[in-house]
Order: sequence, then structure tokens, then C-alpha cells
Amino acid sequence: FKLPVIRNEPNLHYAPNSPERQQLQDVLAEMQAAAPFQVPAFVGGKEVNPSGPRSEQPMPHNHKQALCTFPTSTPELAAEAIEHALGAQAAWESMPFNDRAAIFLRAADLIAGKYRAKICAATMLGQGKNVWQAEIDAAAELVDFFRFGASQVEQLYAQQPSENSAGTWNRVEYRPLEGFVFAVTPFNFTAIGANLVGAPALTGNVLVWKPSPGATYASWLVFNILLEAGLPKNVIQFLPCPNGDATISLVDKVLSHRMFAGLHFTGSTHVFRSLWKQIGNNIDRYLSYPRVVGETGGKNFQLVHPSADLRASVIGAIRGAFEYQGQKCSALSRLYVPKSLWEGEGKFKEMLVAEVGKISVGPVTEFGHFMGPVISQGSYDKCLSYVEKAKQAGGEVLAGGVGDNSEGFFVQPTVILTKDPRSPTMTDEIFGPVLTVYVYEDAEFEQTCKLIDETTTYALTGCIFSNDRAATVKASSLLRFAAGNYYINDKCTGAVVGQQPFGGARGSGTNDKAGSISIFYRFVNARSIKESF
Ligand code: GLU
Repeated sequence: FKLPVIRNEPNLHYAPNSPERQQLQDVLAEMQAAAPFQVPAFVGGKEVNPSGPRSEQPMPHNHKQALCTFPTSTPELAAEAIEHALGAQAAWESMPFNDRAAIFLRAADLIAGKYRAKICAATMLGQGKNVWQAEIDAAAELVDFFRFGASQVEQLYAQQPSENSAGTWNRVEYRPLEGFVFAVTPFNFTAIGANLVGAPALTGNVLVWKPSPGATYASWLVFNILLEAGLPKNVIQFLPCPNGDATISLVDKVLSHRMFAGLHFTGSTHVFRSLWKQIGNNIDRYLSYPRVVGETGGKNFQLVHPSADLRASVIGAIRGAFEYQGQKCSALSRLYVPKSLWEGEGKFKEMLVAEVGKISVGPVTEFGHFMGPVISQGSYDKCLSYVEKAKQAGGEVLAGGVGDNSEGFFVQPTVILTKDPRSPTMTDEIFGPVLTVYVYEDAEFEQTCKLIDETTTYALTGCIFSNDRAATVKASSLLRFAAGNYYINDKCTGAVVGQQPFGGARGSGTNDKAGSISIFYRFVNARSIKESF
């Protein structure tokens, strides 16, 4: 069989008075009125509510209101979940691929149509995205992950040896991993959570899913849409859990199981490293060497060459740094501008400060704000503490630097000018709307490339704005390992499934490239078969 032709899902625009805006506003109002929803765990084909404390997922723009409550999944429940997942493995992996793919194609259609407004609303209210950021994530990218994923797995399975010596037939069978995959998913993209479970499931794996507490409700909706689309009930076990000790106990249980076969993770570098160490310590327990796949932090750069288009590079910096409040792993946080473009009338600094001054920050339910809240009190505190650290290191605050958390976790878009390219806000991941600028001498373009490379511990994304091809070539070569996603004359965020495979190396992850065929290789376990006649 051949899958239908796959194209990227177009974004809806939500213009004033458009039918999609009207529909979304209705769903937002209904959701706010009905909240908090009671999200359960889902184990053994049914909803389970373990006794024990329940936690809340607050709405970051209005933190006194909870979007949902969720239980604490215990280690005992995790042990049960693993057995149910393993019990479902044989039937799931032996289901013909077309039928597995059809479930994901159907789920994609449900998200693109019937549930689009609902999943966008959940992402707006629960994760603090404005409507356009929710649309590119929970609608378009999620749908693309499922549709392109089906097509990419089809291509992978089609890869077969081309040579057969006389009297033989060589072939490769792409089995799933032997055991279960543990998906630990982030708050910042509903689509990433869906892909972290979707990619292993498409290739016939069974999973235990621990969603981020900050994205519990949207993750629960995705899970239910998959069930509605026909996913057999035990293929994915859903285990919500608050951060802290409860998660540590849950993870201990999961990672000590003999049939733990893979980790599919997006989150912080620190957590990924500790999980990897734990897997290393448990290595003798496992039947197989687990596949460890993770996308973690970023400290992404924009380099402006003296030949750059000024306006395009200012807009690139603003969109890269402040869309979704800088809470994308790909977000821009360090900007390198040549002295000749920086100061003076109509120059970079003036334009940047003026444009940042026009950014409106406010509740996601009032359409029209460019920025919403950051995800939590912890994140709010971290952003403001880095403003202090920057000042102590001699930095000058050119814009923002303040916040208001009385109702929601609102941090103003912040621009810091530093003379020290190794100061804390130039090196540490903040994961919020804080951009630091370093002005370099025009004659030192090459040294600046080297400096960027040297200070890149997370090599996720980066971009250069330049209209001088020789300079672009030089920078691209000197910065060859400084970014897994590298953009020329474009901002450093916004990778599109099927267009820019996404992921970085060094401290930012295993660079297995979500949104491309590469990721699926990590979740297959190939068997070569030679048959002689
Ligand atoms: N793929 C997204 C982008 O390029 C970022 C994903 C992330 O934050 O992990 O903007």
C-alpha cells in the first residue's frame, strides 16, 4: 500500500471575526468555566485514580485558577503499567504497519478538524501560549508529526538490501525494541509530547508515558484522541506525576525494570544526564542495551554580520528570543552585533529597543498580545534572578528586566547589553524572555565566530544574518558544530516537520532529528534475514 500524499498542515490565522477565532473563543470560555478537569492515570486499559495527593496544573496567565488536577502515579502503579504494556506488545507489533499508520493518520485528522480548537485552547490555558503559538504547536506541528511520521516509517521499512547473490534472498525486518519505551515529555510543546510517544508507537513499540505536570491536560487530550482513533488501549500507559520525590520514585521503578528498552526524552539537560547515569548504573539488569534519545537545553545564538539587512536581523532576534516567552529549546538568547551596526540613529540598538518597547505582554485569552506568561513561579524567579546576575556582572538592562506575578507569571521582554561574552546570561540556559547582546569589533568577525563556538556548550540552534557570501561561508565553517539547526538569514526557531529535521548535539541532546526519518531508526531493532534456496 502507499500512504496518501503528505503535506504540512497549513496554519489557521485567527483573524478578528474569522470563524476559527469565534470557535476557539467559545471553546476557551467553556473550558475555563468547566475547569479544573480531573485527569486520571490510564493503566491496564482503564482510568485509575490512585489514592494519595492530587496536584494542580495552574493556568500560568491566571495562576489562582487550575486547568486540571492529576494524581500521583506511584511506583506500584508504574509496575502494573509496565506489565500491561508488555502484555500488549505482541499484538501491537504484529499488527500490519498500514493499520498502525492508519490510527495515527486518523488521529491527525481528528486534531486538524474536530479537536483543533480544544487542543489549542488546552495549550493556551495550560502552557501559556498565545493563539498563534498554540496553533503552530498543538494543531499544525502535532498533525505533521503524525502524518509525516507514518510516511517516514513507511520509507524506513522500504529500505532493503539491493544485492542478492545467486540462490539467496536477503531482507531486513524492522522489529520494535524488545521491551517498553519510557517517554518523559516536556511542558513547552504539546506536539513534542505527542511525538515522543508517537514515534516509538508507530514503529510498533509499547510505552509508559510520564507527561510534564505543566502539560498534563493537553497530554491527556492527545492520549484520548489516540484512543478515539483506534489505538489499542494498552499500547500506551499514561502516568501523570508531580515533580520532585514522587517522580524520582516512579522513575526509579521504571528504569530498574529488566524490559526497559528505550528512553524518549525532552526536558532539561540536568534531568537527562541524571537519567542517563541511572540507566548506566542499571545496565546489568536489562535484557538489552536501552536506546537513550533526548533533546535537552539550548543557549542559541544569532550572529549579525556588518553586511546584514538590519531590519530582518532585528525582527529575527525579537521573534527568536520572545515568541512563546523564550520557552523554546530553540529560542535565541545571545546576540552578537558588529559595532558598525549597533549605535546611532536608525541602527540596531535603537530599532531593537523601540520594537521591544511595543511588545504587549498579557493573558492568553485576550487575543493580540505578542507574549503571555512564563510557565511557573520557578521560571519567573529564574528570569528575574538572571537579570540581577547580569547587572552584577556589569550588564546594562536596555529593556524589560521586570515582571508582575500578581495574577499570572508575566515577565517583560528583557534585553541586556554585556561587555563580557562569558557572563552568566551569555552562557546559562534561562528558558525565558531574556536576551543578551554582545557588541563585537567589525574587524573581529572571525574571532567572534570562534568565541561563539568556544562558549557553546549546548549546540542546538543558531543563525547568521549576512549578505556577504564569503563571510557566511566562513562563519558556517567555524560554527559547524555549534548548532544542530543552523539558519542563514532567518531566525533560529520554528523548525518545520519534514522540512528542517530538529535536534542538536553537545549538551543539547543526542541529535536524533525529530521530524525526520532519522528518529525512527532509534526505535527499530533490525533483523537481517538471508534465505538460501
Ligand atoms: N522545534 C521547535 C523550534 O524549532 C523547538 C522545539 C523545542 O523547544 O524543543 O522552534
